[in-house]
Amino acid sequence: MMSFKKTTSRPGYTIPVGISGCLLGDEVRHDGGHRRSKLCLGTFSDFFEYRRFCPEVAAGFGTPRPTMRLVGDPGNPRLRLSDHSGEDLTDQVVSGFSGQLETWSHLDGYILMKNSPSCGMTGIKIYRENGYPLEQRGRGLFAEALLKKYPFLPVEEEGRLNDHVLRENFVMRVYVHYNFRHEVRRQPSYHNLLQFHSSYKYLLMAHNQQAYRELGQLLAVSGKEPLPELLDEYQFRFTKAVSKPAKRGSQSNAMQHILGYLSRTVSSEERLGILDVIAQYHRAEVNLATPLTLLNHYIQRAGNDYVRAQRYLEPYPAAMGLRNQV
Ligand code: SF4
Repeated sequence: MMSFKKTTSRPGYTIPVGISGCLLGDEVRHDGGHRRSKLCLGTFSDFFEYRRFCPEVAAGFGTPRPTMRLVGDPGNPRLRLSDHSGEDLTDQVVSGFSGQLETWSHLDGYILMKNSPSCGMTGIKIYRENGYPLEQRGRGLFAEALLKKYPFLPVEEEGRLNDHVLRENFVMRVYVHYNFRHEVRRQPSYHNLLQFHSSYKYLLMAHNQQAYRELGQLLAVSGKEPLPELLDEYQFRFTKAVSKPAKRGSQSNAMQHILGYLSRTVSSEERLGILDVIAQYHRAEVNLATPLTLLNHYIQRAGNDYVRAQRYLEPYPAAMGLRNQV
């Protein structure tokens, strides 16, 4: 039986995450203000090491400055001043962030400010030449370039992170990205990829059973594919599989599978007790932390090395308290 090393919760262990500077309180907004985020400056700041950035300031604009907006073709909008001049600032803004963008291959996540024609990730208004908004919405210029350059990077808007389920999913993806970068990308090998996959077996199963099976099949025939292509293919499919929050039903299913590892080491009475708590979670009577704490207790006491190393049991530091909220 293979054993795996856990790297999720070391004291003093921080993860590099990019962030719109105004969310950390930098007075860089067009009106000279900021959008300080309690969440980003609170719990997250103990675990994330921020790389703050304002693409508009990087493009040489001061504060305060005139407002900007996206105009034209929704597939390729231009960034222009909102005033009557409509001056096109696209090239200036793109050249302001392009160099910086190249240096971020070490990031494991990015938190963007919403409603900005530069940083907004979703629902940004795009205007016609005549000044009326199109029905179709888009993405800020910087956000679009960031997602294009780093397609595997977990990126989320700060506003959406106020939703506990989306927040938990984002943080989990940040830690997946970190672990893949450190354990597979840094020393690429089939062996390291297999170890990574094995350690995430039940987390994958809790999110997407079909993707879990398909990734297993991909690895089973992996000897035929060149390693760099295989790593990209694997990370693409894994990232997609966990991009949506797991449902209570599939979480319960994954926990029941893990419980199978205890069938010979805990009494049937104890098993029934754990199953009962999993069922309570399934019925939304308790949060995810409740059955997992119980399961973890028994796994640490009576589980084998393989199941103890499953990252599903602790996909990010428990001190973040995220599983108490979903
Ligand atoms: S460009 Fe981005 S970082 Fe700068 S003020 Fe606007 S939203 Fe904040």
